[in-house]
Amino acid sequence: MANLIGHRVNVLDKGWVELVDLMPHPASEISGDLAIVNAARVSFLGESKGPEADKKLLFYLLRNAHTSPFEMVEFKFRVHAPLVTWWQWVRHRTFHFQTVNAQSGRYTPFEEDDFYVPNMWRKQAKSNKQASDGELEEASNEAFLEQLTAHYDASFTLYKNALEAGISKEMARLFLPGFAVYYTWVVKVDALNLMNFLRLRLAQDAQYEIRVYAEAMYNDFFKPLLPWTSEAFEQYVLNAEA
Ligand SMILES: Cc1cc2nc3c(=O)[nH]c(=O)nc-3n(C[C@H](O)[C@H](O)[C@H](O)COP(=O)(O)OP(=O)(O)OC[C@H]3O[C@@H](n4cnc5c(N)ncnc54)[C@H](O)[C@@H]3O)c2cc1C
Repeated sequence: MANLIGHRVNVLDKGWVELVDLMPHPASEISGDLAIVNAARVSFLGESKGPEADKKLLFYLLRNAHTSPFEMVEFKFRVHAPLVTWWQWVRHRTFHFQTVNAQSGRYTPFEEDDFYVPNMWRKQAKSNKQASDGELEEASNEAFLEQLTAHYDASFTLYKNALEAGISKEMARLFLPGFAVYYTWVVKVDALNLMNFLRLRLAQDAQYEIRVYAEAMYNDFFKPLLPWTSEAFEQYVLNAEA
């Protein structure tokens, strides 16, 4: 069974997502898929009946919305992402945001390169007022990227000057470009609610800056750790909606 605790995946220009902990812990040698099946079998006071029957039961559970056994698997992630991603992420109330721990901009000063620099500008979509579609022409792309980094440099200089003048960190950060600042937070989520997050944020209408985190969590953690569940998820949820 894969032990991915401590594994970190790079996302965007300087973000990442890391698996901090997992329940069931790999040392228990009970896979996440089996923990789900065993939880469901409590109803009948039984446990594993071998891989074939176990996988069949797991597929039955997801297909028939018998979802609570999927809450028996929990992931704890540390995430480093720009605030534009954070504001969308925190809308997922069941992502245990009541237990979130986030970096404090009142305590830790920001660094010069704590800002998200996209590798290109996406154009405003014509059909969807909140989406993007296609890429800006190359010359404009470069020019606006240069303007963005100049803006970050100027903002950071104002921030640094404010700190040097004795202004508190909690106020000096008003000089920083808010949506672009990288933040770090730790969150817990169970497999059921992570599937809800993934369903919404892997979708093509999700903003790129959160979709790439969903892709990293799904491809690098969820899929290898819960192979039966991800197979059922793709069959009954992702592809069922396509
Ligand atoms: C493409 C996209 C565009 C969006 N645009 C906007 C926008 O313009 N403005 C905006 O404000 N938000 C927007 N959102 C956020 C969206 O409205 C949801 O808040 C967010 O996706 C979280 O989804 P959720 O409620 O299913 O997740 P969670 O909050 O994690 O909840 C999971 C599930 O638990 C249940 N649940 C949780 N809380 C309650 C409750 N209080 N009562 C009953 N059931 C509950 C529901 O079944 C819910 O689906 C957007 C999301 C997406 C994916």
